[in-house]
Amino acid sequence: MKKRLVLTFLKETVEKPITYHLVKDYDLMVNILSAKIEPNEEGRLVVEISGKKENLSQGMDYLRDLGVSVQPLASDVRWNEERCTHCTACIPICSSQALVVDRKTMIVSFNPDFCILCGLCLRACPYQAIEIMF
Ligand code: SF4
Ligand code: SF4
Repeated sequence: MKKRLVLTFLKETVEKPITYHLVKDYDLMVNILSAKIEPNEEGRLVVEISGKKENLSQGMDYLRDLGVSVQPLASDVRWNEERCTHCTACIPICSSQALVVDRKTMIVSFNPDFCILCGLCLRACPYQAIEIMF
């Protein structure tokens, strides 16, 4: 089983070796997609975690017991289709192919499962069609 998650840490937990424990104690694979961690400040990790279903469940309980907020990645990315003019300015920017264009119809679409929250499309989009909520 595989999950893409946004983990938000209180400043008290920012320096704890949380990913180490997920790997060692819960036999999970943790792939860090992006990170914003500063000592004595709230931190955020975007991760892909994979492993057995029961290990994932126990690992998430461990995080929540520590006060870490665990949210599915897709809930933090909003693509506003009404605002999108399909200008394609974001397409070369999005290396993970979360934003793609159908070359026949030139219609742009967004797949939140591929988004790694790099934020690069925010500046590229002239119409504020994408929002990332942290
Ligand atoms: S934040 Fe934007 S550019 Fe980055 S992966 Fe997601 S959709 Fe693509
Ligand atoms: S840059 Fe914005 S308006 Fe243009 S295709 Fe991408 S999301 Fe749509």
